[in-house]
Amino acid sequence: MLALADPIIGELEKQAVLEVLDSKWLTMGEKVKIFEQDFAQLHQVPQAIAVNSCTAGLHIGLAALGIGPGDEVLVPSLTFVATSNAVLYVGATPVFIDIEGLTTPHIALSEAQKHCTPKTKAVIIMHYGGYVMDIPAWRQFADINGLYLIEDVAHAPGAPGVGRWSDLAAFSFFSNKNMTTAEGGMVTARDEAVCQRLRALRTHGMTTTTLDRHKGHAYSYDVTCLGFNYRLDELRAALGIVQLRQLPAWNQRRQELALHYRTLLAQQCPALTIPFTADTPTVGHLMPILLPKEVDRLRVMDGLRAAQIQSSIHYPPAHQFSAYKTQYAAISLPLTEQFSAMELSLPLHPGMTQADVQTVVEALARIINYV
Ligand SMILES: *Cc1c(COP(=O)(O)O)cnc(C)c1O
Repeated sequence: MLALADPIIGELEKQAVLEVLDSKWLTMGEKVKIFEQDFAQLHQVPQAIAVNSCTAGLHIGLAALGIGPGDEVLVPSLTFVATSNAVLYVGATPVFIDIEGLTTPHIALSEAQKHCTPKTKAVIIMHYGGYVMDIPAWRQFADINGLYLIEDVAHAPGAPGVGRWSDLAAFSFFSNKNMTTAEGGMVTARDEAVCQRLRALRTHGMTTTTLDRHKGHAYSYDVTCLGFNYRLDELRAALGIVQLRQLPAWNQRRQELALHYRTLLAQQCPALTIPFTADTPTVGHLMPILLPKEVDRLRVMDGLRAAQIQSSIHYPPAHQFSAYKTQYAAISLPLTEQFSAMELSLPLHPGMTQADVQTVVEALARIINYV
């Protein structure tokens, strides 16, 4: 089966995990610190805070910025549901924003502007598929409207500029992302005070860590806020250190494969629409295509499956899920809904070859009857 995503786990990862097991220091130790430093360095930010998921990072990120009940946060609906769930965790209200268009499935600035109210406190942008949003334009939008700019960077670790100009950015290392620690995440923030709050919120609101106390830097601790246990363990951090070193090369490989897809799809499946353009900056997290309206997507997915090719849909709109649709019954996001109804994600991961891409495109062309 040609999988949609496939983590690369080599000898270095295995050694790194075994070393941690042998050391018996299993959580919040030197590996977490090194992982945070390496991650911050790659993204050219002063510091990074490791957490056990991107969802946890978004949650404490919103909390650290002081967002809570009565506040509104602009969010995409075309995203993984964790983006808007995190807003609900802090008691704030997600306000769903439609995308720019079928070929640019990022939330539209003009729509975001229309939905700003005196209650709006922040906007969360999500770099769909690894395609980097226009960060300077969103920074300007946030500044003009007095909002925090938050990035959901689950699809785009290592992409140029991510995390550098936002107030807060949350990354994911879930097993199908561009790099993985099985489960895990990272948060960056540009304000030192926010970083301090994030560190406290990650670990029960405590003022010192086990490692500080072990090293004799502290003997006790205070609890300064209602925190959580969102810590990353040493095993995962050790995995992360090794994966991070390979991330730039993997991202490069993903871009090359995505470009190859673009070329072959244009030749062999001319009726398909491919979102974004060949020169949109991307780290190739997803390979999304839009099927023509008359093509039955489930039939295509079945056909691909029969050809041993996995495919998926990114995403069902968040505002239409059962848990959301009662509260959001009145809203309509026509472009998001249209995109979501036509979208299909093809396999894309750095372990693939150009021949694999050709296999997928040929199967697709056959199923849609182009050949
Ligand atoms: C995967 C993903 C998340 C959640 O990441 P976790 O680390 O699994 O919590 C959030 N947002 C987007 C867009 C994602 O793709």
